[in-house]
Amino acid sequence: MELLKGVHVIETYATTTLLVDDRLVLIDTSSDADGGKILDYLAKIKVKPRDLSTIFITHTHPDHVNGLAAIKHGSPAKVASSRVEADFISRKRVYDGPSGPQSHPGTPVDVPLDDGQTHDGLRVILTPGHTRGSMSLLDETRSLCIAGDALNNEGGLAPMPDKYNVDPKQHRQSIKKLATFHFENLVMGHGAPIKGGASAKIAELAKRL
Ligand SMILES: [Zn+2]
Repeated sequence: MELLKGVHVIETYATTTLLVDDRLVLIDTSSDADGGKILDYLAKIKVKPRDLSTIFITHTHPDHVNGLAAIKHGSPAKVASSRVEADFISRKRVYDGPSGPQSHPGTPVDVPLDDGQTHDGLRVILTPGHTRGSMSLLDETRSLCIAGDALNNEGGLAPMPDKYNVDPKQHRQSIKKLATFHFENLVMGHGAPIKGGASAKIAELAKRL
């Protein structure tokens, strides 16, 4: 569905976001190893994977990275992630947190990102703790934050369940960090997106942590 103009939220097991304007950007790639649901959605709105400029991966969990190799196949799109997460996405390093060792085909990261850096119109906010190198992305032109699993909205806005977090304390510090930014809209990996007043809601949550 189109959440805001040019912001498509694709319902897979973990949400995938597609930004469409003078560029095409995909954030996360679902758990489907063949990228099926995402490729179907792209076809439906007449977007070709080879026209994507960047595929951002918020973190290396299977429900965000499994479709990467299939979607990247035959596409000149650059793959971008945080510098820490890049080695897990390429599988140069074995991931040591939940949910255990990884099985996706390792895909090289072309653009390793640091905190505060802007790439292809999105600003990086590192939000580690869920995984070692989790990141959120800020689209300032749309007042939109794409937070991956920095928090979730499945039963109200909350941290991710700690069984999925590599460092629960750092995960909460990252939520407090997100609360210092201002944005109206929020897409998360799990749970309904928020339209309007999003960062104020995160600030309320951060006070209780
Ligand atoms: Zn995750």
